[in-house]
Amino acid sequence: MLGITLGDITKIEADAIVNAANTSLLGGGGVDGAIHRAAGPKLLTECRMLNGCKTGQAKITKGYWLPAQYVIHTPGPVWNGGKKGEEHLLKSCYENCLKLAVDYGCRTVAFPSISTGIYRFPLDKASAIAVETILEFMELHPDMDVQMVCFDRETFQYYQNALETAKGK
Ligand code: ADP
Repeated sequence: MLGITLGDITKIEADAIVNAANTSLLGGGGVDGAIHRAAGPKLLTECRMLNGCKTGQAKITKGYWLPAQYVIHTPGPVWNGGKKGEEHLLKSCYENCLKLAVDYGCRTVAFPSISTGIYRFPLDKASAIAVETILEFMELHPDMDVQMVCFDRETFQYYQNALETAKGK
């Protein structure tokens, strides 16, 4: 099932939560900062050993003090007008996170709205890409339980609309 919820991803008891990271994997602002604060300093220690991550790819760590067992870190694309492969890279983020989740036996996965904060990806496009990519993946893995955890009402509304649209297709 794919669900859209309003809330703080650091509080979610999933097998894995996704972090909208940057390519250094050494922490940052937004949801990345919140996840590092809630997980505690050992998360940064483990991230230092990963040697960064390319945009659109994903790497996994333990969740430490978080209620989630794992954190899957994925650097989303910075929006630069849409002609630099941003949409394809955002799709890759969702796909690679879900593949890694399956590899680690995670059934429940929670995503934040990747790239739509500091990275300025337009919410209408990002929400459609996220929902379509997750639903495509779930056709092959119907037992998975995926949540989009939105931090504010506007984001929540966009993802709900995207889900309604995708269901109607
Ligand atoms: P990016 O750099 O990929 O744009 P941001 O962290 O700036 O990442 O923003 C991505 C989304 O995560 C935004 O919608 C932001 O409001 C949201 N966000 C920030 N903190 C949290 C949190 N604790 N839980 C869930 N979402 C959050």
